[in-house]
Amino acid sequence: MAKEWKTRTQLVHEGSRRSQYGEMAEAIFLTQGFAYDSAEQAEARFVKSGDDEFIYARYGNPTVRMFEERIAAIEGTEDAFATASGMAAVSGALTSMLRAGDHVVSSRALFGSCLYILEEILTRYGVEVTFVDGADLAQWEHAVRSDTKAVFFESISNPTLELIDIKSVSEIAHRFGALVVVDNVFATPIFSNAVAQGADVIVYSATKHIDGQGRALGGVICGTREFIRKVVEPYMKHTGGSMSPFTAWIMLNGMATLDLRCRAMADGAAKIAAALEGNARLSRVIYPGLASHAQAALAERQMGSGGTMLAFDIKGGKEAAFRFMNALEIIKISNNLGDAKTIATHPATTTHQRLPEDQKVSLGITPGLIRLSIGLEDSADLLADLQQALAQA
Ligand SMILES: *Cc1c(COP(=O)(O)O)cnc(C)c1O
Repeated sequence: MAKEWKTRTQLVHEGSRRSQYGEMAEAIFLTQGFAYDSAEQAEARFVKSGDDEFIYARYGNPTVRMFEERIAAIEGTEDAFATASGMAAVSGALTSMLRAGDHVVSSRALFGSCLYILEEILTRYGVEVTFVDGADLAQWEHAVRSDTKAVFFESISNPTLELIDIKSVSEIAHRFGALVVVDNVFATPIFSNAVAQGADVIVYSATKHIDGQGRALGGVICGTREFIRKVVEPYMKHTGGSMSPFTAWIMLNGMATLDLRCRAMADGAAKIAAALEGNARLSRVIYPGLASHAQAALAERQMGSGGTMLAFDIKGGKEAAFRFMNALEIIKISNNLGDAKTIATHPATTTHQRLPEDQKVSLGITPGLIRLSIGLEDSADLLADLQQALAQA
């Protein structure tokens, strides 16, 4: 939409559609289909449906459309397609545009399911995939070639919070006409400047910050109208990974507070990271907003924030890490992120358990590494909880 609203206004109002009742809250149009006034109208709608004309919930739905328009406005893309989960968004964005014989370059440090799509699924259908160390621009330079159709990466790696320079990678990819597809979950839609940095397609797991309360699975693909409606939509509507209206309603409610929540979480993360840095029980504290982070300047340029996630390495390996986690009183042991509740994860034994030992080492997933997703609790309470649990580690 061409409105010049600022983010917080868009998060509350953008894309709103009201029925004849003028309801204040976004309605859940919990309907699979839509009745037509006449056979002629049905025929016409199948030929070309207009803005407020729907056919079937797998193709689109008023509640889902509100969510798509709102997130597209925040991200600064022309359009968006909402999906059943973050993985439906990642697989939909890539599979819809690729065919046998295409070449893709991807960073190696990926969420496990993203890695599975690139390593196992795309290659099964004849797509060639080259993996690179995403922070090393020379490797992108070397790997991208004239038949490269897309590059893919997570803008902040999980769990060691290494940034990939969207602008520089986009410049390399665009020289060869490749589309830049960014999984931007850790950056959040609030700290994302991905479009301004050159990204073409941005995907989110809405399960994370967008819901923000750990209730529903969802995802979204953001891009140009041409890409979303001509490439993504036909693929998604025929393969079935569309978002449900109920989920879209949850996500719309989440979005009203998205800016406030992400900023509060990032403030908490910055305070906690600063307070923990130098703690005698930790060998390192990783937070992109700390001056000690090797890419602090890139984080500031790319996101204007250090984000809502941090990680640290407890001296004493797995035993100490487990003692620490079991001593936590407020912070929950789980594996989601972007939730209102602060979450501690031990990647080596959970999210990244299946990686071979040498890959864990090369990705920095040490036995003492803890990943924290900072929530909305008072940061003084969180810090006290972390300190008392560290004392027992
Ligand atoms: C969680 C996550 C996904 C997958 O999202 P789901 O909603 O769980 O399907 C993809 N990429 C990243 C970086 C994630 O954190």
